[in-house]
Amino acid sequence: MPRTIIVSNRLPVTVLKKNQTIEYKTSEGGLATGLGSVYKQGANRWIGWPGIYLEEESDQLQVAADLQADHMHPVFLTKTEIKEFYEGFSNETLWPTFHYFLQYTVYDQKMWETYRRVNQKFCNEVMKIAKPGDTIWIHDYQLLLLPQMLRENLPDSSIGFFQHIPFPSYEVFRLLPWREELLNGMLGADLLGFHTYDDARHFLSSVSRIVGFNNQQGLIDTGKRTVMVDAFPMGIDFDKYAEVAESEETLKREQTFRKAIHDQKIILSIDRLDYSKGIPQRLEAYESFLQKYPEFNEKVTLLMIVVPSRDQVGKYKELKEEVDELVGRINGTYGNMNWRPINYFYRSFPLESLSAFYRMADVGLVTPMRDGMNLVAKEYIASKTNQLGVLILSEMAGASRELSDAILINPNDQNQLVNALYEALTMPDEQQQFHMEQMQELVKRYNINHWVNLFMDRLSYIKIKQMAMA
Ligand code: UDP
Repeated sequence: MPRTIIVSNRLPVTVLKKNQTIEYKTSEGGLATGLGSVYKQGANRWIGWPGIYLEEESDQLQVAADLQADHMHPVFLTKTEIKEFYEGFSNETLWPTFHYFLQYTVYDQKMWETYRRVNQKFCNEVMKIAKPGDTIWIHDYQLLLLPQMLRENLPDSSIGFFQHIPFPSYEVFRLLPWREELLNGMLGADLLGFHTYDDARHFLSSVSRIVGFNNQQGLIDTGKRTVMVDAFPMGIDFDKYAEVAESEETLKREQTFRKAIHDQKIILSIDRLDYSKGIPQRLEAYESFLQKYPEFNEKVTLLMIVVPSRDQVGKYKELKEEVDELVGRINGTYGNMNWRPINYFYRSFPLESLSAFYRMADVGLVTPMRDGMNLVAKEYIASKTNQLGVLILSEMAGASRELSDAILINPNDQNQLVNALYEALTMPDEQQQFHMEQMQELVKRYNINHWVNLFMDRLSYIKIKQMAMA
């Protein structure tokens, strides 16, 4: 029986070791939920790193055995690999370049070599399980070389690749010294998916200029195989967010939070601490709003959740200090005994609390400088069961291509952001409901299951087309 194998840098589980005992924390993220219907079936598998460095072989053996029971297969990384492959090349070279933060990009040959070695390690682990004829779906920028490495071992398998972050314009991508190897690595796949048509277009243009393969409507002829490139905007589990938003636990939490915030209007911002999210720019725009519209003093609060992330990478430590300072300055300047303009939390929250925040928020403020998709924007929409609320969304987020009923802004345009905040906070209810309804229909229809099925269908389609062309 052919099987389907999912490969991503992280498994949908985190392994923790506390006082010599191994514990498992399952991920409830969208990708884990959406792909659950795939990897848990039959002999299918999910291969990836369990998120921890395990030194002892006995621990590794135990983890491998435990995970196998749940259809997972771990790839263990050494400390050097975590530093140079994950924190290094993935997060200090590819991440900043792909998000147009060129000044943050580190060009380091040693990190590149470790990246290639770890991709090979993933390939070796996949080959312990995969057989000719299997379908393999690889995820994201940590594994750009894996499609071609697998292709060499499995010439006839269906190999799909999905990139969850943006793909930059050729003028930016070409700056990478390893640009050609990276593209050749990706071209080992039969189907390459991106969140938006612009990402797909940028990829096609880089392939044409750097590798010399042209395309016809997204079909690249490599001389050996036809590779298909297309946009698949990722969705969320709409029903889950809509249901949790109505659950008793969420309503209870909302009541508690409301008591603390009284009858102020709430502007909500939720992101991982990342320079691509535009957190300082957002804070500065909010400060400017408070200055321009003093009538909102004591009437509004910015509820800002920042989830710790990649704290071993230098740029992230600097950003944390910048955000702390800005929040302190704004609260210190505008606040008084009865009112704090910003309620700031540097930690993560359980789903029911997030859901209560989404429900309570009059405005969802999502203003990344650059974002592959941005799921928070879609979760906010799915949680608005009474359809009241306004989404302010950056044009630079993939989600903006679908959510044209949001107030779309350029995150570099502070004036526009200030005006958008005023417009959102004063928008009549009927208008809010009108726009929210439109967006809910879209987010409900193009949900995570639709995304998984569409990608898998397209992968079967291109395989059949290849055979017909051969
Ligand atoms: N999230 C979470 N805990 C929190 C805050 C957020 O699990 O305390 C989730 C949020 O619900 C969303 C994800 O983190 O599903 C963030 O995804 P997004 O695409 O917005 O950004 P990314 O972090 O992937 O860049």
